[in-house]
Amino acid sequence: MDTTLSLTDAIAARADAVRQRIAAAAERAGRDPDAVTLVAVSKTFPLEVVRAAVDAGLRDLGENRASELVEKVATLPGAADGGQVRWHFVGSLQRNKARDVAAHADLFHALDSVRLANALDRRAAQAGRVLPVLVQVNISDEDAKHGVPPAEVAALLREADRREHLEVRGLMGMAAFVDTPDELESVVRPAFRTLRRSFEDAPLDLSVLSMGMSGDFEVAVEEGATHVRVGTAVFGPR
Ligand SMILES: *Cc1c(COP(=O)(O)O)cnc(C)c1O
Repeated sequence: MDTTLSLTDAIAARADAVRQRIAAAAERAGRDPDAVTLVAVSKTFPLEVVRAAVDAGLRDLGENRASELVEKVATLPGAADGGQVRWHFVGSLQRNKARDVAAHADLFHALDSVRLANALDRRAAQAGRVLPVLVQVNISDEDAKHGVPPAEVAALLREADRREHLEVRGLMGMAAFVDTPDELESVVRPAFRTLRRSFEDAPLDLSVLSMGMSGDFEVAVEEGATHVRVGTAVFGPR
């Protein structure tokens, strides 16, 4: 008897487990579980795995390299290209790669400078579309390279909002990686609260709060995440 699960079944089982944990966290916080979108971060996994994820019912997929996004979109088009899935670009982006992301991403999570906003705006105009974006906020001192400090969020939101070919939807943040449940409470939860506060205090009407990864998505949901970006817990180790 063959008891091996197919790739699709294996991914579906792991995604279900993640969804149940999201639902439990939402209930603890008195939130509607349907208000949380599971973005399955498929970066580094080959097309056959992404296809299995789509067959397993996942519709929101995440990538962090422009070249890999272009490759995958060619076979599995996202909404920007008339397809059924949504491609989320979750990684930091060099301006010289802005064209591919502006053309194909359904939501860009990592806007962190006016110069990148200008590059994406120009490239989205050339592609004849409006690119939905999130401003990335630095909520962990460790990762000082990426994201704007909370004090600069409002200014960047306002700048980006003036770009005709960008649509500002919300904020994204990454907490520090921690090893213990105690640190989830003492380090990660306060970071997510900081992001939530930036979200609530924003000068624009925002709908997307992207926070939480495999190690901390339940805390993120408890603290108000509308999108969690989960790779390892859905696809296994990279
Ligand atoms: C890779 C990545 C994720 C997913 O990480 P996991 O720990 O595998 O869940 C989420 N967000 C960003 C920005 C990433 O680069």
